[in-house]
Amino acid sequence: MFLTISTTGTAERPATDLGFLLHKHPGKAQAFSTSYGTAHVLYPEADAERCTAALLLEVDPVALVRRGKGKGRGGAPDAALAQYVNDRPYAASSLLAVALSSVFSSAMRGVCAARPERAAEPLPLRIEVPALPARGGTAVVRALFEPLGWTVSAEPVALDTEFPEWGDSRYVRLVLESQALRLSEALRHLYVLLPVLDDAKHYWVSADEVDKLLRAGEGWLPGHPEQKLITSRFLSRRWSLTRQALERLELVRLAETDDADVEEIDNAVAAEAEEEEKPAPLAVQRRDAITAVLRERGAARVLDLGCGQGQLVQALLKDARFTEIVGVDVSMRALTIASRRLKLDRMGERQAARVTLLQGSLAYTDARLKGYDAAVLSEVIEHLDLPRLPALEYAVFGSARPRTVVVTTPNVEYNVRWESLPAGHVRHGDHRFEWTRKEFRAWADAVAERHGYGVQFHPVGPDDPEVGPPTQMAVFTRTSEKEAKAA
Ligand code: SAH
Repeated sequence: MFLTISTTGTAERPATDLGFLLHKHPGKAQAFSTSYGTAHVLYPEADAERCTAALLLEVDPVALVRRGKGKGRGGAPDAALAQYVNDRPYAASSLLAVALSSVFSSAMRGVCAARPERAAEPLPLRIEVPALPARGGTAVVRALFEPLGWTVSAEPVALDTEFPEWGDSRYVRLVLESQALRLSEALRHLYVLLPVLDDAKHYWVSADEVDKLLRAGEGWLPGHPEQKLITSRFLSRRWSLTRQALERLELVRLAETDDADVEEIDNAVAAEAEEEEKPAPLAVQRRDAITAVLRERGAARVLDLGCGQGQLVQALLKDARFTEIVGVDVSMRALTIASRRLKLDRMGERQAARVTLLQGSLAYTDARLKGYDAAVLSEVIEHLDLPRLPALEYAVFGSARPRTVVVTTPNVEYNVRWESLPAGHVRHGDHRFEWTRKEFRAWADAVAERHGYGVQFHPVGPDDPEVGPPTQMAVFTRTSEKEAKAA
């Protein structure tokens, strides 16, 4: 496995500065041992005009297999032989990427004490990988690198030049050129995208890979048009990790929200305020029903889980008996709108001390949510994919464990009564499911049973004799202090 990095220069700005940037002296060949074999760094050419560094990874296939086994995941047992005779040692780009990050770790971080100004500026770069496994072929290679400012040349490598009729192999010869990138950026592109193209990691992908991806992707991955493909492949299509990474990338993107977006949020708030002038009966009835339950329970410290744009938080703030109100949502956009709605920045100190907005996903346990009197999940559960629901259940009923939990969700039976709703349709594009009364009760009863709660059901909105109410509400009351069982 082999790649070269070349640059050009002049007498004042010699190309050999590449040696400083990579922290590897151009005058000598060096070898580094890595977990999978030996990485060699050498410079086939090094003068003021042109300098090329080559990284050659000599993989020890036995170490590769042993390491896989040692971690307890050497693949299926019948793949034992395949591990010895596959192409991994010669082609696995994930190995090359790992070698790149260990041999050039400072360069990847953009650290260069000897030439800090050069590390901080773009330089002419040419990177060549003679045999790169590329799933999806040259089109995917372009789609990944071109948006980052690379000029891409990717030619499929023939399976065997003697027998052109055999067609192309899954390898491409990749040449990337750019004048606009810093070396650290280029290395971080390679670190992420080489394994993405290979689409097969040589090691087990665990949760800390999400951190690695976000660190290496800083400044270029949020907003990359192929962000989803990159994330899913980098994380070996482990869906839970991919989802976590995509959520965090979305947050980064929103944190970098520019003025145009802020204007959009303002407009959204204005539009909603307008809508609220007309009566929005069901939403209002729902808020009133929830607030009534919370009052009746004497709850003072309340969580609004999946608080969205903060309407319930706003309603609760009007009643002084709610001394602490915490709105939690996974969407930074929703929280931004909520904070504008509540005018958090202009609120008096005492009022402000009563309210907190937290960004977080309800699919993960969160120590910040422990010790409250009550939690509300108003029209939230149906936004989660069904397989994620046990995770939310555990986070709320197993970990946070407030005395009271109020859950509302649409009653799908009522949908036939909505004039504008075509039969068989859910009420909102983002609803992953909508339940009948029976389905909701079955879920709620099982949750209560698993976690030591009692549960009662209440209709919200007109209770139709045939199809029931538009909104169904379950009120859970904690009956036992015992440790919860995982769902
Ligand atoms: N509770 C509000 C908003 C309901 S819309 C109301 O009754 O009007 C559903 C909200 O749940 C959205 O704001 C969405 O961002 C949030 N949500 C969806 N999945 C979530 C998750 N996993 N963690 C936290 N919030 C989530």
